[in-house]
Amino acid sequence: MYVVEVIEPKTLKKKENICCFMCQLEYPKEEYKILRENKKLIYFKWDTKDCDFTVLSNLTLCHECLFKMIKKIHPNEETKVKVLTEEYEYDLSFDPDATLDEDEEEGNEDDISGFFG
Ligand SMILES: [Zn+2]
Repeated sequence: MYVVEVIEPKTLKKKENICCFMCQLEYPKEEYKILRENKKLIYFKWDTKDCDFTVLSNLTLCHECLFKMIKKIHPNEETKVKVLTEEYEYDLSFDPDATLDEDEEEGNEDDISGFFG
């Protein structure tokens, strides 16, 4: 099981940009705030120093890249991911087959349980 933490816009500094480690998708705080509120985009902090696939720790990933990375690490098995938000914990399971299908259909890849209600 992996644990990832939602990066809320308000935790960023005023002029800070947030940038995905993998796809380099970058937004200033204010834009991310709007996208997050509209459930269009979410960034995660993934502390990977205990995992064996990277020497990096605290990866910042957009939701799409998080899916992709988990699928890459576990291409053939369902993977449990605990998502931490400010108030709640969500246990999600990433099904590689389901994610694959979603990748081919437009606009469905951002279904991460409706970004938590
Ligand atoms: Zn990304």
